[in-house]
Formats: sequence, C-alpha cells, structure tokens
Amino acid sequence: MNFSRSTSLFQKAQQSIPGGVNSPVRAFRSVGADPLFITKAAGPRIFDEDGNSFIDYVGSWGPMIVGHCHPKVVEAIKKTAESGCSFGAPTELEITLAEMVIAAVPSIEMVRMVSSGTEATMSAIRLARGYTGRDNILKFSGCYHGHSDALLVKAGSGAATFGVPDSPGVPADFARHTLTARYNDLDSVRELVAANQGTVACIIVEPVAGNMGTVPPNPGFLEGLREICTQEGIVLIFDEVMSGFRVAYGGAQEVYGVTPDMTTLGKIIGGGLPVGAFGGKKEIMSLLSPAGGVYQAGTLSGNPLAMTAGIETLKLLQAPGFYQQLEEKSKALAEGIAKAAKDAGFPIYSTRVGSMFCAFFSKNPVYDWDTAAACDTQAFAKYFKAMLQEGIYLAPSQFETAFVGATHGDQEIEATIAAAAKCFKGL
Ligand code: PMP
Repeated sequence: MNFSRSTSLFQKAQQSIPGGVNSPVRAFRSVGADPLFITKAAGPRIFDEDGNSFIDYVGSWGPMIVGHCHPKVVEAIKKTAESGCSFGAPTELEITLAEMVIAAVPSIEMVRMVSSGTEATMSAIRLARGYTGRDNILKFSGCYHGHSDALLVKAGSGAATFGVPDSPGVPADFARHTLTARYNDLDSVRELVAANQGTVACIIVEPVAGNMGTVPPNPGFLEGLREICTQEGIVLIFDEVMSGFRVAYGGAQEVYGVTPDMTTLGKIIGGGLPVGAFGGKKEIMSLLSPAGGVYQAGTLSGNPLAMTAGIETLKLLQAPGFYQQLEEKSKALAEGIAKAAKDAGFPIYSTRVGSMFCAFFSKNPVYDWDTAAACDTQAFAKYFKAMLQEGIYLAPSQFETAFVGATHGDQEIEATIAAAAKCFKGL
C-alpha cells in the first residue's frame, strides 16, 4: 500500500501545526507510523489521500455509530445550514435534543449542551462542587475525561499512550484536589473517601472504561460507587461521553441498572459534529447560570448543525432491533479476532461491552490501569501496522476502544477477522 501523499502532507503539517495534528493520538506516533490524511468516508469505510480504502473501527473515536455520511444525517445538516450555521440565540432544535436525551438517559432530568466532552466533564465537576460546597474530586487511573487541568491526572487515552498521564502545565495546586483510585477496586475508593471525609464533591467514572482499552466494570463496582456516594453525600457522575447511546440507547446506566446523579455525554449525540452535554437531577442542574449561580457558557453551545446531526442520529438509533443487531455483529467480530489470535498461538485478552471492544496484547486479565499498562504495546504496534496494510483502520494505540457501527456488515466483519488471522500469524 502506498502512503506517499499522506507522508508528504504530514511533513507539511508539522511546519504549521504542533506535531502535525490537532489531537495527539491521531499522529500514530506511539505505533511508529505516519498518520493517514483522510479525504472522505462512507458507511463503514474511510479513504485516504493516496486513494486507499479501509474498514474503519475508529469511527471518529466513537460518534459514527450509524456509519459515515448517513444520507438522513447529511440531508438534515444541509437543510439546517441553509437557514444559518449559528445564531447565539435559542432554537427549538435545542429543546428537541434535550427532550430526546432526557427521555433516553435514566439519570437526566435536565441537560445543558456544550461543544466537547472536555467541556461537559469540566462543567459537571464545577456544578458538583457548587452543589456540595466541597473541593475534592475522585477519579480513576486510566479513565480519561478530557483535558481540563484537574482531570489530567493519571489520565487515559492519549495521555496514557504518550506517557504523560500527568501533564506539564497543570499546577500542582490544581491537581491537589484530584484524588485517584483504582478502577474496579471499591476498597481504594473507600480508603480515599475515609481519608478525605466530608471533602469529596464528586466521583467521576467511565461506567465502561474506554480510554485504557475497553475495561468493563466488575459486577458490583458501579453499585458500590452508588452506595458510597449516597452514604457520603457525594455526587456520582457517570462520564458517558463514549458509552452514552453506544452500549445501549440509555447508555451504561441502562445496561447496569445503576443511576448516577449526573451524566456527561458527547460523541454520538452530535452525530459527528462538535458536541458535549451534561445533565442530571433537577435539584443539581437548577444551580446552573442563569437559573443559579454556577457559571458556565459557550458561544457555539447548542449549535443548530450539531443539534440537527444529533437529533437525526438518535432517531436512527430508535429503529427496532438496532442495538440487538449491533450486539450480534460486535460479538461475532470480537470473538472472531480472539479465535484468530488463539489459532495463531498468540492469545490475547479480549474485552467487549456492546459495540465497544478491545484486543489486549496480554495473556492475563485486564481490569484496571495497571493490568492494561502491562500489555505488550510493541506487539500491538506491529499488529496495528499489519492490519493497516490489510485495509483495516484501527485506533493507533493499545489504550483505545474499537467501535462497531450499523454499517459494518457480514462482509466487513469476515474480512476483518481474516485480516486479523493473517496479521497474528505474522507476529
Ligand atoms: N470523556 C470520555 C469518556 C471520553 O472518551 C472523551 C474523549 N474521548 C472525553 C471525555 C473528552 O471528550 P472531547 O474529546 O470531546 O473533549
């Protein structure tokens, strides 16, 4: 496969854009390759500047659950754009999407739109602090909640991939209020809460961790967090930026039957346009400006194009059997890849929740950041590059999740498993 145009564009990009990319993991740096420059995508496929075509399991890092360029979504965006791209004033579209989100997500009684997942978690935490009058927050190592200062502590995703889970530029004073526990380890939470009695405003957690690879919650973990939060007056925040509308229409909270006090969303609810949202109990959300005193704002918040793409995407997700079909094909794919690895004598640890899955290059179970970090990232890098040559576009890091969408059909799934079988044999 020839990547010469992408390679020359990457050289050019590095002159004007730090590292040549506008978000770090895109650079393929940790797998020792140059990124592909993309021209277009359609359904399950993505196309690069050299005219190569790939089956895409990145899906813009999660949003593209109905496939790229779904005609209904594209048509609706075009129609909205003809009436104006942004007004900085309220529109009915915002009410429509808010009502759809409230109807779907058990914990959400009121919701505010923002423009990214980072903004959603940052704002949710400010509100939780305003509500409780407490300063400390508790997160889990390996979870990623965007790049706001207080959350770049033991962070997953690109921060983990590049070995900077604690970024320079975050004053120690800002990080001081962030307590870090181990994912799937309730004792580590209890210890921290006890040692900081009455000072913890919120616990923020990815109910299905997707930023250290895919790590499902152990049975009882989310229930245990709920119990601790209720007992201690701590606001429980599920960061469902990735899992929301992904693992089920109502997100992970629907799947596991645990209701947090607040929820953050992003990705899918923007249908591929920039969006984020945070919502929860009325009692908490009413403290938000201008109803209450906790300040939060945005020039492009509730943007009509993003609202339109979100509304149309959510409508498509309501089709009967949508999530069942996604579950079946995701299962076939993840199991097929795991079997291909085993047959090649290269056993992996395979995890999956709905259409989120990960092949960990580890013989041992992965259930938290330490066990994820122990994976063979060099073998992963080889696998990644081999899969790319076979026309399969995976996230360029062991610490990311693969996403299956509605347009991945039997043909794509069979081709992916066959490619994986070949690549594992070659490792
Ligand atoms: N929370 C989670 C769980 C995420 O996966 C992400 C992004 N991958 C974010 C927050 C941050 O979202 P954004 O990149 O839109 O700022």
